[in-house]
Amino acid sequence: MSQKKTNGEVIFVGAGPGDPELITVKGSRALERADRVIYAGSLVNPELLELCRPGTPVHDSAHLTLEEVVALMYEGTSHGETIVRLHTGDPSMYGAIKEQFDHLDKQNISYSVIPGVSSVFAAAAAVKREFTLPEISQTLILTRMAGRTPVPEREALANLAKHQASMAIFLSVQDMHSVVEALLEGGYPASTPIAVISKASWPDEEILHGTLETIVEKVKLAGIRKQAQILVGDFLDPANGYARSKLYDPTFTHEYRQGSKP
Ligand code: SAH
Repeated sequence: MSQKKTNGEVIFVGAGPGDPELITVKGSRALERADRVIYAGSLVNPELLELCRPGTPVHDSAHLTLEEVVALMYEGTSHGETIVRLHTGDPSMYGAIKEQFDHLDKQNISYSVIPGVSSVFAAAAAVKREFTLPEISQTLILTRMAGRTPVPEREALANLAKHQASMAIFLSVQDMHSVVEALLEGGYPASTPIAVISKASWPDEEILHGTLETIVEKVKLAGIRKQAQILVGDFLDPANGYARSKLYDPTFTHEYRQGSKP
């Protein structure tokens, strides 16, 4: 005989980068049936809360500690509630979700994760670029500068910069000067293209294009201090062009198409 489940569950949902249409269909359905929502108020677009049934209790986690967040989860799920924990972008990037999972595991509370559109991809969409241009870079590094949260030394920006892969740098625009210094130290030429995308997909999105030489001044002038992606690499503006893709090359044969070359 199956045991009736009285406990509720927690659903971690990626809210997307800002534009409320950029949540997944599955994520929006979770919000529609949520009994309670805990959302990261500093970055999640509050318009998304309009998807909830009227009267659904909502808590802005910007004012809460981890202990307070999990206390709400214990309390709600013990009454059978489905709780949506709404994180900006995709929850797996700087979402501080693992520590919540560990608490829930200890209490035997079931949870699942619905991914979201990370701001890194909203930023690429805003500048209409591809991170993986043939013969330019086939790698994307997602990282941040060390700040009040440390970064392991082996991942210091200057070390990662040595790869000269495409890079997306989160949580760092407030210290643009150090970002650029580390990138130069790592070996990027001063002419390397760099873009700063503030509030990608929001109505007040701002895009700055420059090089390692010019970007610090541009960011200062624009007054951008937070909520921005820093994209770096030749993929932004390949000085000497790039190779066309093999996949769509008429001479290239692959599983789905016979090319003109044997
Ligand atoms: N999980 C989120 C990242 C959270 S960390 C994601 O996947 O996007 C917060 C950082 O994300 C910000 O400091 C900024 O670097 C970036 N960010 C979040 N939303 C953004 C947006 N709409 N535009 C540009 N950068 C954004």
